[in-house]
Amino acid sequence: MSERVVSEQFRVFYDALSQNLFSLDEMVVLINKTLPTIADELTLGRVETIFIAPESVYEPRGLYKVIAGYDDPNGFAEETYEKSFTTAEGGTVKLFANPKKGCTWSDVDKENIDFLLQVLYVSCSRLRLLSLMQQTTKIDMLTGSLNAIGLNEKIGMLYAKHELGEYASIFSNIKNFKYTNQHFGSQAGDYILKQYSILSRGFLEGDGFFCRLGGDNFVILVKKYCLLRYLMFITDIAISVKVDGKEEIVKVGTKSGVYAIDKDAEPEDVISCASVAFGIARRSRDKDLVYFEQEMLDRTLHDKRISAMFHSALSQNEFHVYYQPKVTLSDNTLCGCEALTRWHQEKIIYPSEFIEILEREGTIRHLDFYMLEGVCKDMRRWLNAGIEPVKVSVNFSKLHLSNTHLEQDIIDVLNAYHIDPKYIEIELTELSDFKHFDRLVAFVNRMHAEGFGISIDDFGTGYSSITLFRDLNADVVKLDKSLVDNIAGDHARRADAVIVRSIINMARELDIDVIAEGVETKEQAEFLRSNGCRMAQGFLYDRPLTHDDFEKRLLHRAYTV
Ligand code: C2E
Ligand code: MG
Ligand code: MG
Repeated sequence: MSERVVSEQFRVFYDALSQNLFSLDEMVVLINKTLPTIADELTLGRVETIFIAPESVYEPRGLYKVIAGYDDPNGFAEETYEKSFTTAEGGTVKLFANPKKGCTWSDVDKENIDFLLQVLYVSCSRLRLLSLMQQTTKIDMLTGSLNAIGLNEKIGMLYAKHELGEYASIFSNIKNFKYTNQHFGSQAGDYILKQYSILSRGFLEGDGFFCRLGGDNFVILVKKYCLLRYLMFITDIAISVKVDGKEEIVKVGTKSGVYAIDKDAEPEDVISCASVAFGIARRSRDKDLVYFEQEMLDRTLHDKRISAMFHSALSQNEFHVYYQPKVTLSDNTLCGCEALTRWHQEKIIYPSEFIEILEREGTIRHLDFYMLEGVCKDMRRWLNAGIEPVKVSVNFSKLHLSNTHLEQDIIDVLNAYHIDPKYIEIELTELSDFKHFDRLVAFVNRMHAEGFGISIDDFGTGYSSITLFRDLNADVVKLDKSLVDNIAGDHARRADAVIVRSIINMARELDIDVIAEGVETKEQAEFLRSNGCRMAQGFLYDRPLTHDDFEKRLLHRAYTV
């Protein structure tokens, strides 16, 4: 056995390497600091370590990476001592060493150098392992793109360098991906996600970062000057997948929110502002792309506050039932009413501020039942006090129709207060884009059989109004205020008058009652009456009234308008 280098520096270096688990940076620093201290003893002029990564999905791919090395300031001899190793993951580590300028190595020297290079190789492999371990926490395994942790690190780096303002962030979701997965199978779905990511990364090369947050949600950071080009690019991605041996071309459309990052933006704004804009694109029927604006953030905060407050507000009875009278046009007397909710806080919050949010979250269902129960309670008190109530319509969101016990749940509430269903009308809201028509028809038929009335709210605003007319056995349609606004008076529009007149005629021939909502003027009331509309509701008669004011109305039912 020949003599080995056992200088104090080398022993410290070797012991440190073999006994400690260094971080990546620490290890490089240690190697680069130690090599010069042992270079003289070894007559070492140069050491270079090169790593050739395998073609795996994970970065860096096929890159040459110099991890650690040494260069004598006086240069090195040409004679090169070379060693090469293959790593477990299929990469190659190449090590090169040269004597100092004007020196040559003896066989013993070469053995020492060989030993040094082996030590460097082992350190190098450890470095690679460490870097892979670090990367797996930052890389999405399916697509090889950054994951949320990886993206946040990039955002942090750009922020530290004051470069965030050069970028735009995009929050994207693939349209109908659920359908794609169901239709082509989840393997093809995974393949599409992978290809989509690879294509996008290829496009962004050097001009941005592509991240998969999870599922089919992506966040992209792109230099502002290529934003438009990237947005164009993603409108036009088609991926060919093999399904049962057949090639199918899948066009991948996205819904996206874009935030042109402000130069003073904080790191957390990058994803959140794009995601706020995305939320609007997602809910929009016709917009696939929405740019972030500050007021959207205020709106989102407001919405979050509402949903956070809702449940406790409901349990603390902060929602009150108001009643807006309905009037028979022929004799101007009270003939019914609509229950409308009012949220009592320091001041009253109107439905326009919260109904849409509750609809979106599905919690509207709790409110509707709370209102139905409130109406039944009031009605029981009126009946007990000998006051004859009128039929009350209660707004029910179409979301209820997915509940298969809906009919029984409604009946149970009435039974608890011994209320005859003849006093209750279910007013179905927002049916314009309702898809499960069979369920709707079954609901209406069952409620009729139980003695309830059914009315269709906001009639005339949706595309499917005529279908509703034809196929749904409703008792009443409620003409939307937007149709009523311009039928008469100074702002009269001929088309509106014609449409309203036609709806009334059609409804009458089909034995469906018509009520007009939002009636504000005598002219409107007169137009409706003379064209055969039976009922009206609106500020001309009454605003929505508190329980006590409505009770007075029940006792004095005639209007003088
Ligand atoms: P809607 O069911 O179409 O109710 C009619 C809305 O028009 C009510 O607004 C009412 O106050 C208002 N209105 C009535 N007459 C006039 C008028 O002459 N002029 C004007 N400018 N407005 C008039 P409100 O109470 O703010 O309710 C808004 C919407 O919120 C309702 O529209 C309904 O869709 C929804 N909503 C209210 N309460 C409930 C509820 O308990 N459950 C559900 N699902 N929706 C509710
Ligand atoms: Mg209504
Ligand atoms: Mg309405």
